[in-house]
Amino acid sequence: MDDPVWINKVEALVGPFVAYILEGQKEAEWIEWKIVNLGYEILRSREQNVDWPSALCWHKMVLPKAGAFLWTALHGHILTGERLKLIGIAGPSVCILCKENEETTDHLLFWCSYTKRVWDWLLDKLQYGSVRSQSLKSFLLAWPTCYKKSKWSILWVVSLAMLAWNIWKERNRRVFNEEALPFELLIPKIKVAIEEVINVKVVGRKYFTYSSWDKEMERLWNLTKNSGYKFVDKK
Ligand SMILES: [Zn+2]
Repeated sequence: MDDPVWINKVEALVGPFVAYILEGQKEAEWIEWKIVNLGYEILRSREQNVDWPSALCWHKMVLPKAGAFLWTALHGHILTGERLKLIGIAGPSVCILCKENEETTDHLLFWCSYTKRVWDWLLDKLQYGSVRSQSLKSFLLAWPTCYKKSKWSILWVVSLAMLAWNIWKERNRRVFNEEALPFELLIPKIKVAIEEVINVKVVGRKYFTYSSWDKEMERLWNLTKNSGYKFVDKK
């Protein structure tokens, strides 16, 4: 997934806008959408040959902005405190979520005590007893991809990018707006965001209920069953 051509293109796009972002603007929507378009170019040019977890970032079920963000993060190119130092812009590099550690990508999106609480919530909601990996990338490399066809399997694809994206938005909320949501209030927002994305994407598709895991997901997540869906219980 380390593609220097694409990394350089993203870098070239984002670089000139660093100052704009640092001046206190909210999230730079224009930059986000430029990156999204680059991502879709990768998908189009490589078709089925995109490596995991890049394939997850550009999956058609994933919210494009969230997927593009995760892809950028996995390449170490989001503008964390550490990254800003590397490109020569001095400033505070302490994580604004915990105020204890340097703000690296892995810290912010994976190891931070705040972020870990959110990951713990998601893993519990997926009934996934994962061990902690060394890095976000190795964690995603080990992410289960075996759940196919079930409507609930989409949770495995959609939820990762949504979690990372919402942690990043919370980080920016604190940096730019000086407002902070405790993780107890961020979690329900992430849950609703995941459910909304899935409910929009699955309209008109046919899904099967395969296992007791599917049934547990029905209980834990508020994914709508309206007339647009056809459920067939395989048991
Ligand atoms: Zn932290």
